[in-house]
Amino acid sequence: MADLPVLREPARYPRVGLRHRFYLACQAGIALVPTSCVLCQGRAKGGSLCVFCHAAVMRSMLDGRPRCLACCLALDAAMQCPDCVQRLPAFDRVIAAFDYAAPGDLLIHYLKAGRRFTSAAMLAGLLAQAVRHATLALPDDAILVPVPASRASIRERGFNPAAEVARCLARQLGMACRPGLLLRAQEGRRQTHLGRIERVSSSLALYSCPMRVDGAAIVVVDDVMTTGSTLHSIAQVLKAAGAASVCGLVLARTPYVSRPDQQPG
Ligand SMILES: [Zn+2]
Ligand SMILES: [Zn+2]
Repeated sequence: MADLPVLREPARYPRVGLRHRFYLACQAGIALVPTSCVLCQGRAKGGSLCVFCHAAVMRSMLDGRPRCLACCLALDAAMQCPDCVQRLPAFDRVIAAFDYAAPGDLLIHYLKAGRRFTSAAMLAGLLAQAVRHATLALPDDAILVPVPASRASIRERGFNPAAEVARCLARQLGMACRPGLLLRAQEGRRQTHLGRIERVSSSLALYSCPMRVDGAAIVVVDDVMTTGSTLHSIAQVLKAAGAASVCGLVLARTPYVSRPDQQPG
């Protein structure tokens, strides 16, 4: 690690100034354009969801259920997080826009399986809303870093969904985005059909950080968080490279009850 280059002041999307004012003016104009809701084809504006679908998607995070302070998992009556109790997470906390359940799961399906590249901005808007309403604010100088996709999935989809969401989110929140801080060291196995134990082992040694990031507040952006094993492995890598904190921003958090794998571990 000693010979690695050192992170310099990251470029930010300026929150003030001509460029950002122009961006905000464009967004304000786009927000007035009549469009169809992605979910129900009802009346919407600016590529957003209609008010009813927006409320339905975001309801899961606003129903008052207690959530794990670290990984944002909705807790049951036992009030114990089945993911964090098995493995103390290396990341500090997670903010999720909605639970990976109907109807929000359809939005993820459209983005990833349906390759609706253009819906990344709308989804980033939902995540930006969750960030603004989070109990603890992100550090002002935090750097967004998307989870890198495998070459196989980029070949299949033509883009990395996490990277597109991170890019849109950076503009909306006026944050720096540095995809180059996290590299995929090897291809690894697709995690979609893996169980919990397999997910943890398959994430190990999958990622690397090519420079020192001493004292940096890193925010890792991903589309779906299932067990947290990917974010855990990434946080280990980034903290070994000097990161002061590693938080996760995910579009959707998979509820424990809806997982294909229920074995603890
Ligand atoms: Zn709708
Ligand atoms: Zn947890």
